[in-house]
Amino acid sequence: MFRCKVCGWIHEGATPPDECPSCGAPADRFRAMDAAEVGLTARELAALGIVGQGFEGIDIEDSRRIRLLSFIDASFFSPFTIRSGKRYPIYTGDPQWFSDNIPCMTACPSHTDISRYIALVADGRYADSYELNREHNVFPGCLGRMCARPCEDACRRKEVDAPIGICYIKRVAADYRGETRHEVPPAPNGKTVAIVGAGVCGLTTARQLARKGYSVDIYERFPVPGGVMWTGVPEWRLPRDVIAEEVALITDLGVRIHYNMEVGKDIQLQQLSDEHDVVVLTAGCQTATGLGVPGEELEGVVSGLQFLEDVALGQKDVWVGKRVVTVGGGFTSMDCVRTVLRLGSERSVMTYRRTMHEIPVEELELEEAEIEGVEIQYMVTPTRVIGDENGHVIGIELVKNELGEPDASGRRRPMPVPGSEFVEECDMVIVAIGQKQDNRFLGGMFKNVDRRGVPLLDQNLKTEVHNIWAAGDYVINPTNFISSIGEGKRVADLIDQEIRGTLPKEKEMEITRIPTEYVSAPNALISEGVAEWTMTSMSRRLVWGDDYTGVGRARSRYVRQHVGE
Ligand SMILES: Cc1cc2nc3c(=O)[nH]c(=O)nc-3n(C[C@H](O)[C@H](O)[C@H](O)COP(=O)(O)OP(=O)(O)OC[C@H]3O[C@@H](n4cnc5c(N)ncnc54)[C@H](O)[C@@H]3O)c2cc1C
Ligand code: SF4
Repeated sequence: MFRCKVCGWIHEGATPPDECPSCGAPADRFRAMDAAEVGLTARELAALGIVGQGFEGIDIEDSRRIRLLSFIDASFFSPFTIRSGKRYPIYTGDPQWFSDNIPCMTACPSHTDISRYIALVADGRYADSYELNREHNVFPGCLGRMCARPCEDACRRKEVDAPIGICYIKRVAADYRGETRHEVPPAPNGKTVAIVGAGVCGLTTARQLARKGYSVDIYERFPVPGGVMWTGVPEWRLPRDVIAEEVALITDLGVRIHYNMEVGKDIQLQQLSDEHDVVVLTAGCQTATGLGVPGEELEGVVSGLQFLEDVALGQKDVWVGKRVVTVGGGFTSMDCVRTVLRLGSERSVMTYRRTMHEIPVEELELEEAEIEGVEIQYMVTPTRVIGDENGHVIGIELVKNELGEPDASGRRRPMPVPGSEFVEECDMVIVAIGQKQDNRFLGGMFKNVDRRGVPLLDQNLKTEVHNIWAAGDYVINPTNFISSIGEGKRVADLIDQEIRGTLPKEKEMEITRIPTEYVSAPNALISEGVAEWTMTSMSRRLVWGDDYTGVGRARSRYVRQHVGE
C-alpha cells in the first residue's frame, strides 16, 4: 500500500499510481506505508490523520478538500511547551511531523490556523473566518492585501501545481465578513504599559496585553497609526479605512495612542520607565540607508522612505521628477517606482544589483510594475550621481555587475565590471536600499547595546533595564509585517509571564520528542490515554460543515495533569 505525501490518499496496490486520484500529485509523491499502517481499518486510518477516504457520505471532492486542508489546532506552539525544567512529551505531536504535514501554519510567523480559516470561507462563514484570523495575525484585512505570505512558499499544494492563495483568501474573509465583532475589555489588572511606536508590532503587543487587563498607552511620533503600514505602503495598495478599522478594534480595548509624541523629544524614555510597570520598544527601522556615492547630496536625490512618507501623510506638495531612477529591489523600491508613475513621472527605472532571481519582491508585483511601464535594470550598481551647475540631478552613473563568489547570504556577490559604466539620464533619484534603527530616543539609558546601537536583550526579549522590553523590526532588522506581528505576540506573552511570575526559570528550554512510535501515528497518544486529543486529531472534524471554531482549544489531559494548565 502507498500513501500520497501531499494529501494522505491511500492507494492499494504493489506500485504507486501514476497520479493521485485525490489531489493529482505524481507517482513520486507516494510513499510505501509502513507495517504499522497496513491492515488498519478506514476508521483506524482516520485516527492516524488519513481523513475522509472510505467513509459513507463524503464524496471524493469533500474528502479531497478535507485532507488538503488537514485541520489542525490553532494553539500550536510546540517548542515552548516545556515548563519548570521537567521534561514532558510534546502533546502537539512531533514538531518535525507537524512541520512536514502542515508546513504553511509553521511557516506563518504568527502560526495562523490556515486550514481552519480557509474551511470557514469555503463554508461561507466569512465573519468566523475573519475572527479566527484576527486571533493569530491581528490585521487580516491589511495582511490579506500585502502580507509577505511565507505560508504560500511552504504550501504542499505547490508540489502538485501552485500554492493555495492563502493570503487573498484572508482578504475574502475580511471584505465579506459583513459585521465586525467588538470585544469587551477585561477588568483592569492594575498594571500599566507604555509602548514606543504604533507600528504593527506595538499595536499587536498592546492588544495582547490589553486583553489581559493591562492599561496600555502607545506613544507615536506620527499623526497616524500602523507605522510603515500607513506611512510607507501606498494607499493604492492598502486603503486607509482598512487600517483604521483594524486599529479601532485595538483601541476599543482601551488602548490609548498618543499621536505626535516622539519619545526622546516630546517625552523621555526615562519618564516612561519611571511611570509604568512595563515599557516596550517597538520603534521599527525608520532611518534610510544612504547610497554612499558622490553626488548623494544633490537636489532631487531623496530616500524612498521619506518620499513615501510625504505621499502618505500628504503634508507637503510632493514633487516628482519627469525621469526617475530608483535604486534598490525591495518593498520600498517597488512602492516608489509605481507611485511616481501615478504622480505623473514619464519614465520610472528601477535598478537592482543582482539578477531577477534574487530580487526579494514577488513575481506578481514585478509583473504588475512592468505592465504599468516600470523599466527594471538588473545587475547594475550606482557609482555617482551627476548634477548640473545649480546642484540639481541630471543623471546617475551605473556600473554593470557580474556574479562573483558567494557572500555571507550564500548568494553570489555582484562584482563591478571595470569600464562598463554608463549614465542614465534622470532628474530624480530615489534611494531605497535599506533601513536601520534610529536609537536617539534611548537617551543614553543603556550600557549594553549591540553594534547597531540596539539594547542587548536576554532570551525573554528584555533589556538590562528592569522594566523595558523590545521587539519587532527594531530588534530583528527590516523584515515584514507578519514577522513583526508574531514578535509582538511573543513579547506580550513573555511580559505577562514575567509579571505573573510564570516564566520558565531555565535558560535553555528543552524539547522531548515524543517516542518514535508516535511519530507516524501521533493520534495514538489519544488511544493510549496520553492525551484527549492532539494537534493532529483530524478525526474529530470529519464531517464537513461541523462547527470547527471551538474545536482544538482544550489542553490535553496529559498536559493539564503534568503542567497544571
Ligand atoms: C515602503 C515599505 C513597504 C513595505 N511593504 C511591505 C509589504 O508589502 N509586506 C510586508 O509584509 N512588509 C512590508 N514592509 C515591511 C514592514 O513595513 C515592516 O516589516 C513592518 O512595518 C515592521 O513593523 P514594526 O511595527 O516593527 O515597525 P514600524 O512599522 O516601522 O513601526 C514603528 C513605529 O514606531 C514609531 N516610532 C519610531 N521611533 C519613535 C519615537 N522615538 N517615538 C515615537 N514613535 C516612534 C514610528 O513612527 C512607527 O510608527 C514594507 C516596508 C517598507 C518600508
Ligand atoms: S498572515 Fe501572512 S504568512 Fe500568515 S497565514 Fe496569513 S498570508 Fe500566510
